[in-house]
Amino acid sequence: MADKTIPYKINLSEDELPKAWYNVRADMKTDHRPILNPGTLQPVTAEELAPVFCEELVKQELNDKDRWIEIPEAIRNFYKMFRPSPLVRAYCLEAALKTPAKIYYKYEGGNTSGSHKLNSAIAQAYYAKEQGLKGVTTETGAGQWGTAMSMACGYFGLDLRVYMVKVSAQQKPYRRAVMETYGATVTPSPSDTTAIGRKILEMDPDTSGSLGCAISEAVEAAVTTDGYKYVLGSVLNQVLLHQTVIGLEAKTAFEKIDEYPDLVIGCAGGGSNLGGLMAPFMADRLAGKRAPYFIAVEPASCPSLTRGKFAYDFCDTGNVTPLAKMYTLGAGFVPASNHAGGLRYHGMSPIISQLYHDGFIDEARAYVQTDVFKAAEMFARVEGTLPAPESAHAIHATIEEAIKCRETGEAKTILFGLTGTGYFDMAAYMQYNAGEMTDYVPSDEDLARGLASLPVVE
Ligand SMILES: *Cc1c(COP(=O)(O)O)cnc(C)c1O
Repeated sequence: MADKTIPYKINLSEDELPKAWYNVRADMKTDHRPILNPGTLQPVTAEELAPVFCEELVKQELNDKDRWIEIPEAIRNFYKMFRPSPLVRAYCLEAALKTPAKIYYKYEGGNTSGSHKLNSAIAQAYYAKEQGLKGVTTETGAGQWGTAMSMACGYFGLDLRVYMVKVSAQQKPYRRAVMETYGATVTPSPSDTTAIGRKILEMDPDTSGSLGCAISEAVEAAVTTDGYKYVLGSVLNQVLLHQTVIGLEAKTAFEKIDEYPDLVIGCAGGGSNLGGLMAPFMADRLAGKRAPYFIAVEPASCPSLTRGKFAYDFCDTGNVTPLAKMYTLGAGFVPASNHAGGLRYHGMSPIISQLYHDGFIDEARAYVQTDVFKAAEMFARVEGTLPAPESAHAIHATIEEAIKCRETGEAKTILFGLTGTGYFDMAAYMQYNAGEMTDYVPSDEDLARGLASLPVVE
């Protein structure tokens, strides 16, 4: 029998919106290794990052001391238009699974960009505007980040140039239309507009593109255009920092109903939503106050945590970025284009990587996409929300855990991140509904080829 004293939706008031982001690095036992200049192999300095990133964002990137970083009022005011986001008790999913587990999800898909990415996009656009820039460049894979950034730049009156992974640009014309509506310029990548794009096209004219390759082009465009900097939608410390609004709100909502999650589950592409959702709970774990169990979920087609190496690697295909110590499949790894979605990145956030390496993130799992869509379909039918395929990775893990609870009789409290809406992924849903979706799992040889591109550092 469900506990009816807890409402379906645990809402927070506008005043309960976090006033500061939480910087988990200040509390980590071992901080992640510094990012390195690939030329000198010395830690990258703020001066070296300045040509690429906005000043204030460089400070946030390198900040391992301050536990709390105040959210500027202009950003909080924008947040107020779509936050606090709901924490939902999944009563209907629990009933369908006949599980004693108590399942909660934090839904980030209720804004036009359709995902959590807007939380960081608005912050990055704000700092770019504050610095007096004309515009910013970025890449987008599945299109969510580009959309979020176009909304943020539209709001602050900044120009935006988006390099969109070619296969996504073809698969998702509506994403492009949204970005253009907000005033962004969208270029399918690789393109002939950058030196690195031309080089990649020369080597492989039929390439479907990759996130790593689009990053190279966007960085090149930023450093060669006056008044422009580059922004990135995941992986970086600053992005995880901004995404902590998700976890902070979730924690406040749990306090209201006097609950606490035993399990925290998130899908992991570059690691930003998982990092943001789990950070305040990780703080309790690091302080020895509580022991929530953390699960990262990734696609079997791009398995950086479960099958990658913990090593220094470039963040892009063209090797123009600094080196980061992270779980990686190698910057030369190009994920199969049959897998759409925002989880197709060769590396993983250095924060997530270090926490996983040190055992604070307890587990990583990889699922094939037909299983993920089966979970998405079930969730959509009982909970009423059509999930983004990325989010459905977390749903699948949640369902597995809830079934375990049914078998053991344990009433665990599970929190997972429902990072986005599935509206922009109807081509993938159509494939699934038609029984035409296939699974791709790279062979050990495929992975060995990607890992062979790792730079030798240690
Ligand atoms: C981008 C995206 C992800 C994955 O990115 P992270 O940085 O790992 O959070 C997950 N879900 C949705 C809906 C996305 O748009």
